[in-house]
Amino acid sequence: MTTLSQRLKDPALFRTESFINGQWVRGETTFEVHNPADRGHLADVHDVGESGARQAVAAAAAAFEVWKKTSVFERARIVQRWNDLIIENADDLGALITAEMGKPLPEAKGEVVYGAGFVSWSAEEAKRLHGETLATPFPGTRGWTIHQPIGVVACITPWNFPSAMITRKCAPALAAGCAVVVKPAPETPLSALALAELASQAGFPDGVFNVICGEAEAIGPVLTGSDVVRMVGFTGSTSVGKLLMRQAADGVKRVSLELGGNAPFIVMDDADVEAAADGVIASKFRAAGQTCVSANRIIAQEGIADPLIAAISARMEKLKVGSGFDGGVQVGPLIHDEAVARVDNLVQDARAKGARIVHGGAPLAEELGGAFYAPTLIESGENYGLDIANNEIFGPVASVYRASSEKEMIRLANDTPYGLAAYVYTRDVGRVHRLTEGLDFGMVGVNAPMVGSPATPFGGVKESGIGREGGKWGVEEFTELKFVLLGGVDA
Ligand code: ADP
Repeated sequence: MTTLSQRLKDPALFRTESFINGQWVRGETTFEVHNPADRGHLADVHDVGESGARQAVAAAAAAFEVWKKTSVFERARIVQRWNDLIIENADDLGALITAEMGKPLPEAKGEVVYGAGFVSWSAEEAKRLHGETLATPFPGTRGWTIHQPIGVVACITPWNFPSAMITRKCAPALAAGCAVVVKPAPETPLSALALAELASQAGFPDGVFNVICGEAEAIGPVLTGSDVVRMVGFTGSTSVGKLLMRQAADGVKRVSLELGGNAPFIVMDDADVEAAADGVIASKFRAAGQTCVSANRIIAQEGIADPLIAAISARMEKLKVGSGFDGGVQVGPLIHDEAVARVDNLVQDARAKGARIVHGGAPLAEELGGAFYAPTLIESGENYGLDIANNEIFGPVASVYRASSEKEMIRLANDTPYGLAAYVYTRDVGRVHRLTEGLDFGMVGVNAPMVGSPATPFGGVKESGIGREGGKWGVEEFTELKFVLLGGVDA
């Protein structure tokens, strides 16, 4: 059997120690990383715990003093070199993602390239952090603003995008002049450590970029409690996001939180039904449904519901489930067996409440030997009282609901504490405006199933989070705006 390290063209990308102050650091204990497709053992990764977190924060604090004064052109050059190395090693980085997270290899490479997009964008954008000259009411004065890097930033990242969630946070922070300490998810540390190896090759000074692995409960409070950490960037569950926000409140730290979603996918009677069905498949089955922007509630207007269900169903029949390393596979495993059990509970709740299971509806763990769940289509009519309608599914399960009026559809879509992404399919231009303005979500895709790009703001409202990643907004997040007033100017 080919081991993961044999699979990689550059074995230097297979790292298991943490990266602190430019050194690879071992912990006193290790934790295991597994391949969710076959439960095979991939690596024993060092847990550097609380002491590793303290070392990393101290190293970042010292490095920040130098990095913030480094010319933005020099910082951008190093960030751009990191981008180039990520692209050069996209095959290996993709294989690491598939091995530890499970998504199909082409999708994994797509994640690497998408994530690198934020690196090169940030290298450019940091050069355009312009201050402004302001009018002042006081005679003989001038006023202006400058953007300065916020300081040491702690980034706590999830397993569903093991590479892109790191680059999307760290690249703008680094380009803006911040020093970073990353704590990746315990399920997917290998991608994070490979990015650290490439950052080291790119030439970031020691301590500017650190990746520490280990138990969240030991590391988290060091990061949120340290005086020198001025910002906590987090992507993950709403419950952990709230906990980190509470912890960060004591030090009045900035938080940028990208939390859960419960995306409505609204299909109006006038929509192109084939395009809408394609959109559902793209949004729903990417990463086996384990994305925070995945279509969670497909709300179809009465007149289009039956043809839409038929069109989604026809596409689902062709979906190939299996190991992400197997050719042609579109749906990989879930992250682990607990995730399979959680998704199955949601499906069984829907079944018990009378929803119709059109496709799937059961785990495939026995047949396929890993954490697999059958792509599932559920039709629930007008019953929105299902657990699956009110919780983030995070699995390959599409559920369709029916509604009649546009007003009612907006009300149903907004009836959730979440507000990350929403999707609307319609060809009526008036509806486009009414729906996009009426939906309480941070991003709306109109006749488009993907909303993220390096150039555009990604983030949510309500309990889906605070802050935006991407574009100029993603870089500004990591800066403080300072106002300067100069007196005694006019003679
Ligand atoms: P999921 O349930 O999908 O794993 P989490 O929100 O638990 O999502 O995890 C996202 C990230 O948050 C991971 O890196 C995880 O280790 C980290 N995390 C989980 N609990 C804590 C905590 N108490 N303090 C700091 N980080 C945490």
